Amino acid sequence: MSAAAAELLTRQGGPIRTNEALRDKVAIFSDGRCLVSRSNAEDIDVISVIALAGRLGFATQAAEYVDLGSLRSLYSVSREHAVWPAVGRAARDDTAMQREVHELILRARRLEASDIHVVVDGNAVSVRLRVNGELMPLPGGTDGTPVHWQVEHGRQICMTAYAMAAEGGTADANYDPFGYQAGRIVSGLPEGIQAVRLQFNPVGYSGRHMVMRLLYAGHAVGRSLADLGFTATQEAMLGELTESQAGLVVISGPTGSGKTTTLERLMRTIVRRKPGESLLSVEDPPEYRIPGVVQLPVSNLRNDGDRGSAYADAIAAALRSDPDRIMIGEVRTPAAAHYAFEAAMTGHQVLTTLHANDALGIVPRFLDIGVEAYKLRDPSLIRGLLAQRLLKRLCPGCRRQVHPRDSRLAGDALARLLAVVGDGPVWLPGNGCDGCRGGYAGRTVIAELALPDQHLLDLLCAGDRQAAVDYWKSVLGGWSFADHAMDKLLQGIVDPQQIEYRVGRLAAP
Ligand SMILES: [Zn+2]
Repeated sequence: MSAAAAELLTRQGGPIRTNEALRDKVAIFSDGRCLVSRSNAEDIDVISVIALAGRLGFATQAAEYVDLGSLRSLYSVSREHAVWPAVGRAARDDTAMQREVHELILRARRLEASDIHVVVDGNAVSVRLRVNGELMPLPGGTDGTPVHWQVEHGRQICMTAYAMAAEGGTADANYDPFGYQAGRIVSGLPEGIQAVRLQFNPVGYSGRHMVMRLLYAGHAVGRSLADLGFTATQEAMLGELTESQAGLVVISGPTGSGKTTTLERLMRTIVRRKPGESLLSVEDPPEYRIPGVVQLPVSNLRNDGDRGSAYADAIAAALRSDPDRIMIGEVRTPAAAHYAFEAAMTGHQVLTTLHANDALGIVPRFLDIGVEAYKLRDPSLIRGLLAQRLLKRLCPGCRRQVHPRDSRLAGDALARLLAVVGDGPVWLPGNGCDGCRGGYAGRTVIAELALPDQHLLDLLCAGDRQAAVDYWKSVLGGWSFADHAMDKLLQGIVDPQQIEYRVGRLAAP
């Protein structure tokens, strides 16, 4: 049998009989390779099974030592295929592959990427990084051309990353190349990276999609809400919300809008200002350690149904744990919403996130998931409605000023820009300098924040959105996304193209 397609003799039901405990220690292949878990090198069972293989006519080579995660991955894969073509290579290059994963994370960190996307599909592999909110190919060489991986290499990288998570006990022991799986790598990471969250998805035709979220150490430390890009007024309003110890504060926005960071920043502010309070959080899983907050994880679950009820269970547990305030990572099910309101109605403040299009869309969204209107009409319960987006920030070192006609916008978009700024100048990204990457330096928040009163909630619960928007803006002084974006456009913090792309049509306040 060729080295490229050796049979795993010690698999369950294979020619050499084993039990689960033994399979955690050793793997023997038909081509003579023998892999032994590092911690079981002298184990009597291992020595016996190697002797048994010899008696059955399978000569073995000198043992190679690997870690438990790799062994388990091999067995898991062998359940799907009778043979695993590259199994020998995975094992032999065990540490070499781990070094490659490490190097991949290191390169992403150098570019300050938030995520790494690896897609193994058919006979191609794509490796992309999310930098400043947008995906870019991972550069291969010094000339910046995209990296080129063989399909097998892509598979090995995914499997090795999984094994690194399994090793740390944050993923199920078995790698399933055709299932949805998740895990976290928490050790052996490059400096500055606290953890890497992994999500594995199956892709048609035996493909694989792996997303690695890089969690940076020291994230958010010492940075205020104003640093994120909120206006001074919004920052003062958020401060007012955290002064009081009641009601719900809800942050909405799509994935990648920075709402988790804002939530975390609010919690840090509360920890600083209210050292005597009992603060709990329920997150799936906690993204960043927040000193001073007891962070309850929602356990590692496979599907959304389990996740929904586990979330509700964890919130109920937090409620029984003498909290003053509770941060709930996300309210997405009726059960979670029920407990969130229960907490708020029994004298606790609840800070949470929800998927909604804008600040005033939060109340209708709660109605959609079954929260009773009488609760949503109560301004002592519904304290703060925040929505946000993230826009790339123009680098102040190299941004350039142009006439709106040279703004790269055309047609209706240009007409809208001219209607808004007239002949006044607008700013575009420069060609890049020492202080930035491609003319952009970091990102900035565009936000809407409403502290509703009775009338606003009545209008929202009645479904009269337009009247609610008008009332909010004219009477309560609300600032919409468009208002905040225009303010940043005129200050040269963001460019017009991005506003049209991320926020919506340009419009005069
Ligand atoms: Zn620059």
